[in-house]
Amino acid sequence: MANVPTELLRALPQVEEVLSHPYLAPLEQAPPHRFAADAVRSVIDRLRQRIISGERPEIDLEEIAYAAAVRALSLGKPSLRRVVNASGVVIHTNLGRSPLAPEAIAAVNDVITGYSTLEYSVQNMARGSRHNHCERLISAITGAEAAIAVNNNAAAVMMVLNEFARGREAIVSRGELIEIGGSFRIPDIMEQSNARMVEVGATNKTHLADYERAITPDTAMLLKVHPSNFLIQGFTESVGIAELRRVADSCNKAHATGIPLMIYEDQGSGAFVDLTSAVGSRAESTIAASLKAGADLVSFSGDKLLGGPQAGIIVGRKEYIDRLKKNPLARVLRLDKMTLAALEATLRLYLSPDATRRIPTLRMLTESADDVRKRVETLRMKVADRLPRSFAKLEIVPEISRAGGGALPMYDIPTYALQMEFLQGTAQRCDEYLVRQCPIPIIARLSKDRLLFDGRTILSTEEVEIIADGICRYFAQMQGGSDE
Ligand SMILES: *Cc1c(COP(=O)(O)O)cnc(C)c1O
Repeated sequence: MANVPTELLRALPQVEEVLSHPYLAPLEQAPPHRFAADAVRSVIDRLRQRIISGERPEIDLEEIAYAAAVRALSLGKPSLRRVVNASGVVIHTNLGRSPLAPEAIAAVNDVITGYSTLEYSVQNMARGSRHNHCERLISAITGAEAAIAVNNNAAAVMMVLNEFARGREAIVSRGELIEIGGSFRIPDIMEQSNARMVEVGATNKTHLADYERAITPDTAMLLKVHPSNFLIQGFTESVGIAELRRVADSCNKAHATGIPLMIYEDQGSGAFVDLTSAVGSRAESTIAASLKAGADLVSFSGDKLLGGPQAGIIVGRKEYIDRLKKNPLARVLRLDKMTLAALEATLRLYLSPDATRRIPTLRMLTESADDVRKRVETLRMKVADRLPRSFAKLEIVPEISRAGGGALPMYDIPTYALQMEFLQGTAQRCDEYLVRQCPIPIIARLSKDRLLFDGRTILSTEEVEIIADGICRYFAQMQGGSDE
């Protein structure tokens, strides 16, 4: 700190001085006066930090005013907005996981345009419950006695543990103590919900006897967690729901007067349809199968394999779901009308025989590589039509898409991508341009010095057009120096 150039710090302008610059004068008339002043303050602060850390930035009133105006005006631009996903990761958590089906979008629109039946029963012409909109549909699809939907699956896990294992024990295999993105860790959730975690087995192997030995009169549940985003391969063993059911049943028979030991599965991805015919033996077992095997409760996300909005769904025995509905967390974690509308409409699509085609996430996961190739071919032609050959080499290459979102881990989905090799400009610069400068950001895959556009996650011909346009604009601004 000793040799901080105080003369530079003293040269920094006052906030008021910058605010009176013509660049900012119009903004100052805007009602939240602070909006312009805050922008000025933050630009000055950043300069001050640079000076303190030893830099000697030029201090120019006009430049400061300009930077502040840009910053203030950027508040007017949407931050959460649509992007085109050409990464080939279908359930991309950073990009909002599942895009919604047109039916779900229409349902949201309908419900938010005016008032709705959110908590009103048309039948009874009286107060209704928001829990009713999806419950019958979920039951019809999964064969569950009852169901409840909350904010997300992390919330669902928290609520189940809180209701049934608070102050008691939940037994879980060491091979299933997972962490998934966004700081969700099974041990941490356990702690928050006041359940005592009892770990059994080893990382790679857990036997039925490990569970049996750990059961005490204080055990509330046997918890099974879908490994989600990783695979344990090689010398492994885990215990299935059906075997856990047998253990719980014999235990419950022996202590018929105590609180029954329950089986709860955090299934995670929410597979409603068996994808074996599309993805082979890697397909995840369905929610219906978990219930049939004997799980008392199963929870999963709404926006992974299910293909709906962000939600956490809990299905299972009615007496347990009824208890969850009365837990105060059900109110804390409840869904809003937009999500409920999207979820209900998505669930209804499962009643049709071609659900896999009508739900975008399932359609993308199951589309044949040949069909993907056709879309990539269209993209290649659109770009080739507008771009001189001397700019880039375009090639359609076989590639691998991923399910993402902790579903179907390590499953290689064969796909095709448009590969661009740059003869002018660079892949990295183009990637930056497509993300930062395009009105709808385009997320491609940068692989060494090539840019790949995976056709599997490109949703429509409109998106093909957007990508072709973005690529051509990149070269145009490179040549002419203008964005347009
Ligand atoms: C994804 C996942 C979660 C968290 O679900 P969110 O809907 O993201 O909150 C929890 N458990 C498992 C096994 C998962 O795969």
